[in-house]
Amino acid sequence: MPVTQVAFAPDVFTWPSDEPRLIGGRCGSCAAVTFPLAPACPRCGAPEVERHLLPRRGTLWTWTTQEFLPKEPYAGGETPETFRPYGVGLVQLGDEVRVEGRLTESDPRALDFGMEVEVVAVPFRVDEDGTEVVTYAFRPVRAEGTP
Ligand SMILES: [Zn+2]
Repeated sequence: MPVTQVAFAPDVFTWPSDEPRLIGGRCGSCAAVTFPLAPACPRCGAPEVERHLLPRRGTLWTWTTQEFLPKEPYAGGETPETFRPYGVGLVQLGDEVRVEGRLTESDPRALDFGMEVEVVAVPFRVDEDGTEVVTYAFRPVRAEGTP
């Protein structure tokens, strides 16, 4: 039986997709681009916010490492026994917006300011009925010709 994969929340990233993109909002009044998509513009309060797909690739602005299991509410499937530290980055997507998200790379030595990253979908947890819930993460884009 094929595994069903669902996004952890609707309207956060395009899914299913081989090249998922985050879904932001673009204000019809002040043109601010924001993430996540909200019913009113966080900058000016105008209600004319249009759905706007963000660039798939961006640059790593800064990051940290999540070294312990986040407190509730946290919907991931890990327990204190299965938890593994992961990187959390702030990524500049194009010149449009900065978005915080999990990184696929948790080793700080493999991360660098300004490195190119792209949006990918990663497993988040598996529900009791076997449905795999995925979330978005940023994966470093390796330069051509390097391992
Ligand atoms: Zn606005």
